[in-house]
Amino acid sequence: MKKTKIICTIGPASSSPKVIEELAEAGMDIIRLNLSHGDYASREKVIAQVRALSKKLDRPIGVMVDLQGPKIRVGELKRPITLKKGETIILTHKPGELEPTKYTIIPVQEDLRASLRKDDPILINDGKIRIKVERVQGLKVWCSVINGGEVSTHKGMNLPQSKIRLPIMSPKDEADLRFGLEHDADFIALSFVRQPQDILNLRKLIEKYNPDKYEQPWVIAKIEKPEAVQNFSKILQLADAVMVARGDLGVEIPASEVPLVQKKIIEECLHAAKPSIVATQMLDSMVDSPTPSRAEVSDVATAVVDHADCVMLSQETATGKYPVQSTRMMAKIVEQTEQSPYDDLPHGYLADQRDSRAAAVADSAHELSKNMDAKAIVGVTVSGFTARMISHQRPQNAEIIMMTQSPKVYRQLSLVWGVRAYIIPRSKTLEDLIRNAIVLAKRRKLVKKGDKIVVVTGQPVGLRENMNLVEVQTV
Ligand code: PGA
Ligand code: MN
Repeated sequence: MKKTKIICTIGPASSSPKVIEELAEAGMDIIRLNLSHGDYASREKVIAQVRALSKKLDRPIGVMVDLQGPKIRVGELKRPITLKKGETIILTHKPGELEPTKYTIIPVQEDLRASLRKDDPILINDGKIRIKVERVQGLKVWCSVINGGEVSTHKGMNLPQSKIRLPIMSPKDEADLRFGLEHDADFIALSFVRQPQDILNLRKLIEKYNPDKYEQPWVIAKIEKPEAVQNFSKILQLADAVMVARGDLGVEIPASEVPLVQKKIIEECLHAAKPSIVATQMLDSMVDSPTPSRAEVSDVATAVVDHADCVMLSQETATGKYPVQSTRMMAKIVEQTEQSPYDDLPHGYLADQRDSRAAAVADSAHELSKNMDAKAIVGVTVSGFTARMISHQRPQNAEIIMMTQSPKVYRQLSLVWGVRAYIIPRSKTLEDLIRNAIVLAKRRKLVKKGDKIVVVTGQPVGLRENMNLVEVQTV
């Protein structure tokens, strides 16, 4: 079984029960609902189906709700407009209020006037079109076209060098968040995070709408702004997981820097034992074609070698012609790469991180499992912390089998590299807990009589982030 997890973005090409089931069978671990598009009613159906499917397959399938954040878009256009190099154009958020003019008017959904300064570049449609701000005058932002091309309704716009004065979450994002919370989403991803405070603001809203919940969704910071790359370490401290959102990131910073930023982000995540996701264009040509390009195959393999926890499909599964084939292809590349030595962590890689008891315990469990040739590391996790600590050691031979009493944590572990999660009934004593865990692992045929396993738990039972006990058992 593969260890790197797969996220599939669900859209028109993948919303039917049949396709969702096929995606799960092909290796999907998490669905992503991108709330930039689509309606709540169809999302609701998809979530219900995924929950039922997870029961049937006896493995978690996580639900990720992705908030669009301060994404800037072109407004409504009756027909596409072609911009020519050297041309002068007007951007405005109030196209209806301008008097007739000979200049081309591009409507924008947001009021950008306070965010723009002379000479700021604006990129449209994935960076294909480049314009430059000349001046702001009344409702008009005058710009000159550097690289022309076709602009159509709702195309994305990137302002890489502007200080964007828009709140991190719009009223629509807040409504989308509430939708996610009402449907018990496991992960809330936030687009265009700029600073640590953005994560804190999202957490505050989660607390506001979900005040009594002991278990909240994990917050995923999407890294796609230059500021987020600069502030990465602090953002990582506050987020539960991180996405390298290469689609927008590759427009906001030079595309040639993206591979190194990807490596650096994953490395920091690995040290912090927080899951990382590599996203966008991984098998892009499979949107239209049943086979990927060689470069794309290599890109997926590289993410595995870099030690990402998850790889993600976007258009490939949301709107592409081959959603199931894309997922199968991704799973196959992941599995084959994992069987090689290239994705193994060098011995002692995390040794400098033994600054906490938990890190030391995880390290010992990993060492023991290697020395004893154990079949599995079996752990009991309350918040998912123990699972993350074991996972970041990247054990090569022992399976990571994690038991939890919480259905939510069970589903959240769908994001964590190598973890196979199961729900276990409540136990009063540690002995009961371990016995139940082993019975469950045997019943699921994860281990058999005579196998050596390493058990990781904490005493007293049921405390969060409390791993202090490692022992070897023979099943
Ligand atoms: P998006 O985020 O698909 O929501 O834009 C991912 C990315 O920008 O890479
Ligand atoms: Mn994005």
